[in-house]
Amino acid sequence: MTVIPVKMKKTVLVSGGVGFIGSHVTVELIEAGYDVVVADNFSNCDRTCYEGVKKITGREDIPLVEMDFCDLAAVRKIFADYPIDAVIHFAAFKAVGESVAKPLMYYRNNLTSFLNVLEAAQEKGGVNVLFSSSATVYGEPDAVPVTENTPRKPATSPYGNTKTMCEDILRDTVKASGGALKGILLRYFNPIGAHPSALIGELPRGVPNNLVPYITQTAVGKRECLSIFGNDYPTEDGTCLRDYIDIVDLAKAHVFAVTRMVEGKMKQDCEVFNIGTGRPVSVLELVNAFEKVNGVKVPHKFAPRRAGDVTAIWADPTLANEEMGWKATRSVEETLAAAWAWEKHLAGK
Ligand code: UDP
Repeated sequence: MTVIPVKMKKTVLVSGGVGFIGSHVTVELIEAGYDVVVADNFSNCDRTCYEGVKKITGREDIPLVEMDFCDLAAVRKIFADYPIDAVIHFAAFKAVGESVAKPLMYYRNNLTSFLNVLEAAQEKGGVNVLFSSSATVYGEPDAVPVTENTPRKPATSPYGNTKTMCEDILRDTVKASGGALKGILLRYFNPIGAHPSALIGELPRGVPNNLVPYITQTAVGKRECLSIFGNDYPTEDGTCLRDYIDIVDLAKAHVFAVTRMVEGKMKQDCEVFNIGTGRPVSVLELVNAFEKVNGVKVPHKFAPRRAGDVTAIWADPTLANEEMGWKATRSVEETLAAAWAWEKHLAGK
């Protein structure tokens, strides 16, 4: 007699699943065989990315729940409606400058939504929680590259502070749960690029804050000139150094992390991994690489430093490489080509 398991597939709830990172993670989870429930309030994303996810995966049946994670009743309901094994929490505001101007909005949204996820996960029990953290928690590090043991520094913005606080909230909640909840914190470096299909990618509203969307919009003629913030940093070419990680590589890291959790392979109840390439690239190098690989000009000028920017930060990704078995594989050139293909897709070219 064959015993058919009640539930073979694992179900992952992706909050903020229509956003830039969430949509790419949804694709990779589905391609790895997970059932995914996408939830979003569409405050900073567009339904076209959900359509893109369906096209890429060839799946018409991906549940999409329109909801706000600040609404505890709605969060409880989604946990009651679906057999959720793991939740990946992306639903948060992410603009550094806006967070300085509107701290309460950031603390209210980013903390409340995560508290609600944890509350509902705790009530249900046996749920694995993956939180999308950021290299911003390291501040201006004393030494690079940074490992997971590099001390965190006080955040320079309310946005950064919400990441540090949510890390602590997850750690404390997991500890108090006595094994009922498990957590992984992924600290992302600088996610860039787009899916190679050019069906999903970053959709910044208004003037982009981040470097790569600003580059692609300048190249396509939407912006006149890229300002490079600071060329007097103590680096080789005077511009800041970052660890730019391909969005598909980053998305795959979530599949490794979720699998580690649902298969019970974690070594501690709450684990932390840096998700980066280990390769520092300067702003100027990135602009030059973009021009070269895509054969297009990006008018640029040097401008004063931007408040809050750190000089140099990149990851030591050894732990994620060796412990999770995940590694970034894409070159900066491939990633910048994908970013450009996405911008052209948006422009209808
Ligand atoms: N940057 C820039 N011009 C822009 C946007 C960003 O020179 O229009 C620089 C920024 O100063 C930093 C790097 O690009 O050194 C990456 O910035 P981004 O905002 O993309 O990410 P961050 O590292 O701040 O999270």
